[in-house]
Amino acid sequence: MTTRLPLPPSLYADTAVAPVATPPLDVDKTVSIAIVGGGYTGLSTALHLAEQGVEALVLEAQEPGWGASGNNGGHTNPGLKHDPDQIEADFGTELGRRMIDFSYGTTNFTHELIRRYQIPCEARQNGTLRAAYNEASAAAIENTAQQCIRRGMPVTYLNREQLREMTGTDRYIGAMLDTRGGDLHPLSYARGLARAAISAGAKVHGETLALSLRREGTRWRIETPRAVVHADKVLLATNGFTDDLWPALRRTIVPVFSSIAATAPLSDAVARSIMPTRPVLYESGHITVYYRIDQHNRLLMGGRGPMRWINSPSDVDYLMRYAERLWPELRGVAWTHGWNSRLAITKDHYPHVHEPAENILISLGCNGRGVALSTAMGAQLARRLIGGVKAEIDMPITGIKPIPMHAFWPLGVTSAVIAGRIRDRLGI
Ligand SMILES: Cc1cc2nc3c(=O)[nH]c(=O)nc-3n(C[C@H](O)[C@H](O)[C@H](O)COP(=O)(O)OP(=O)(O)OC[C@H]3O[C@@H](n4cnc5c(N)ncnc54)[C@H](O)[C@@H]3O)c2cc1C
Repeated sequence: MTTRLPLPPSLYADTAVAPVATPPLDVDKTVSIAIVGGGYTGLSTALHLAEQGVEALVLEAQEPGWGASGNNGGHTNPGLKHDPDQIEADFGTELGRRMIDFSYGTTNFTHELIRRYQIPCEARQNGTLRAAYNEASAAAIENTAQQCIRRGMPVTYLNREQLREMTGTDRYIGAMLDTRGGDLHPLSYARGLARAAISAGAKVHGETLALSLRREGTRWRIETPRAVVHADKVLLATNGFTDDLWPALRRTIVPVFSSIAATAPLSDAVARSIMPTRPVLYESGHITVYYRIDQHNRLLMGGRGPMRWINSPSDVDYLMRYAERLWPELRGVAWTHGWNSRLAITKDHYPHVHEPAENILISLGCNGRGVALSTAMGAQLARRLIGGVKAEIDMPITGIKPIPMHAFWPLGVTSAVIAGRIRDRLGI
């Protein structure tokens, strides 16, 4: 038997809409498609399967949204980590262009889905800023913006003066604004997706850890603490919490923690002086800092923190100090929450889809930009699960390649974060 772990002590846990009932699975089941992992990837796939009348059963170890999906920055960012030109160079014109269209369309897809299912999750589409505070990053971002503009995307490149107006600080010398970006309340969104999937006909079981996965006759057999599931097809959607269900999968990603600190609601005047038009912003620095002001005037500052679970803003005091450096008017403001969760980084920084055996599909590694991407991947994965190998999707399906020297990566991540912070502090 397992017991449900509590949600991380986030602002979201204190403010989200109520969860839909997702009781543990306690009777054996035979289903068309079983999905392991109840984050955006698993829930969106279940919803898109159910919409097409296909039976889908989600097995979630804790509760829907317990992982990165209920604890992230809440930014809906268009695109992948890599520039459009790079994507075409890496995957060729045909697949590359499909990947670009798909990935830059993920935010519109997500916000449209939220509207269609009327998911109450404080969703807004006020744009994403990708901002630079040094010349090298500014040049790179301007180049990315030009690539997007050439492809007809709603993107502009902003200079220092424009950024001072948009962010209330003169830290940034250049940024790309993509008006398709936005934000939402991550846990309310995860719970809303679970509710939508269930109302469309999917089954979602919390507190149901998938313990093992193996072939049995023509089906796959998944053992859980109280019951056994037999499924024609299986999707693994476990991202930064990937365990040993599939051989070597754990070694294809580096699970890293990202942390967030949140203020109490700011006065209207302070909130307006920081970001009057309420876009979301992520920095292009040695380590990524990302922030937004939510619909209740709270500032949510995110970035890399300790590589262990945290439970208070004092665990990420550098984020608070950094915020005060950007906006001195924040001094004395109360920081009410500090929390973190784990995301999955891949070696090539692309999301990975694998099909390592017949009727097994795996999707993981959104590299810190999975709110919109995982949601939209859900539709792609559903298409593949229904249509089989003939159903092309807009992302490459690759072999499982463990990262060499994987055991040493946590050490590497910690030193990279420390080195990044020092370089950022020195302004180099
Ligand atoms: C702090 C933080 C901030 C972030 N900020 C942003 C942001 O602003 N914008 C953005 O686009 N992205 C952001 N991300 C990334 C984004 O949250 C993720 O890419 C996305 O939520 C991944 O969704 P998922 O469903 O693939 O994984 P998850 O939401 O992590 O879900 C995986 C689930 O699998 C379950 N599981 C694992 N193993 C088993 C098993 N054996 N049996 C049953 N269940 C299992 C886990 O309990 C977990 O709930 C952030 C991530 C973090 C951690």
